[in-house]
Amino acid sequence: MNKTVSVLGSTGSIGTQALEVCEKHGLGVTALAAHSSVELLEQQARKFKPEYVGIFNEEKYTELKEKLSDTNIKIVCGMEGLCEIAALPQTDIVLNSVVGMVGLLPTLTAIDAGKDIALANKETLVAGGELVMSEIAKKGVKLYPVDSEHSAIFQCLQGNKRSQLSKVILTASGGPFFGKSYEELRNVTKEQALNHPNWDMGNKITIDSASLMNKGLEFIEAKWLFDLEPDQIEIVVHRQSVVHSAVEYDDYSVIAQLGVPDMKIPIQYALLYPDRVSCPTGRLSLTEYGKLTFEKPDIETFKCLGAAIKAIKLGGAYPCLVNSANEEAVRYFLNDKIKFIEIGEIVSSVLDKFPRSSVNSYEDVMKADSEARKYVRDYIADLK
Ligand code: MG
Repeated sequence: MNKTVSVLGSTGSIGTQALEVCEKHGLGVTALAAHSSVELLEQQARKFKPEYVGIFNEEKYTELKEKLSDTNIKIVCGMEGLCEIAALPQTDIVLNSVVGMVGLLPTLTAIDAGKDIALANKETLVAGGELVMSEIAKKGVKLYPVDSEHSAIFQCLQGNKRSQLSKVILTASGGPFFGKSYEELRNVTKEQALNHPNWDMGNKITIDSASLMNKGLEFIEAKWLFDLEPDQIEIVVHRQSVVHSAVEYDDYSVIAQLGVPDMKIPIQYALLYPDRVSCPTGRLSLTEYGKLTFEKPDIETFKCLGAAIKAIKLGGAYPCLVNSANEEAVRYFLNDKIKFIEIGEIVSSVLDKFPRSSVNSYEDVMKADSEARKYVRDYIADLK
């Protein structure tokens, strides 16, 4: 394999697994970037010898520069640094696994520079879906989904006619609180919310999985990635996380992608597409699982999910507003400032509090983002 990759978010869960894939299959690593984990970033830089290393947190720039002062690696920082890395001419594919809204501008920059994208940053499409998809079409670059569900849908589309797709079945693990009533959710703790049954992920996405916001964000992403109407997406709770999603065609054949719940499979498919080569993850044994179950999601109890679906149906800036409100609310929850159920209350209240507005540019997205964050800060200040 002689592809070269730049990894944005290299010290996170997806980033570290992506580097394992690069190592196993001999992909060149042109650049690495992380938010602020200087030590791991230094180790990765020494191992993979990229030309560039970026650190988003500018306060850590000097520390990183000193640590790597015996190398020829160029060190960059801040959003400018991320964007410089996203556009390097010597890179074939940019893996964006940055967490949060921060990921949007580097994605747009990479597209503008004609790079193919392996996308693990949800916010890119949730907040800027219309904008990003139109830029992709203009530049003719490829967008490979990394998220397990979207990778599954992408895999189920291979060899079939997109015009004959009738709907998409997006599976959800249901998270640690599946089956709980709204009353029971009142007193769940941060530790319980951080304890996901199937997937090992970063804190933000683990909380989003517990609140089902993660599935709401994936619903919105699926709409943009595969050009679907919201009514063509069905969410099905599947506790075992073995069926990663499925596509139904006009003949009512349903094609699903299955595998053990391990992100290395979708990461590898995105980076090596269309090759399917040995993956360090284990084989799926269906008889070991024995039973696979499928149930309806509870969008009344899990308010975040209901709000996200409503937001994409309403369109305009609403998906961006619910996403940013959620990001801010989760931050407060992780800092023990609000309760778990308040995340859903805050996120769903956004739909009533903001008038409809459209999103035509990066600036429009950022405006909606800062308004939603301010709204959450004021909401929480009023609680006190
Ligand atoms: Mg997922």
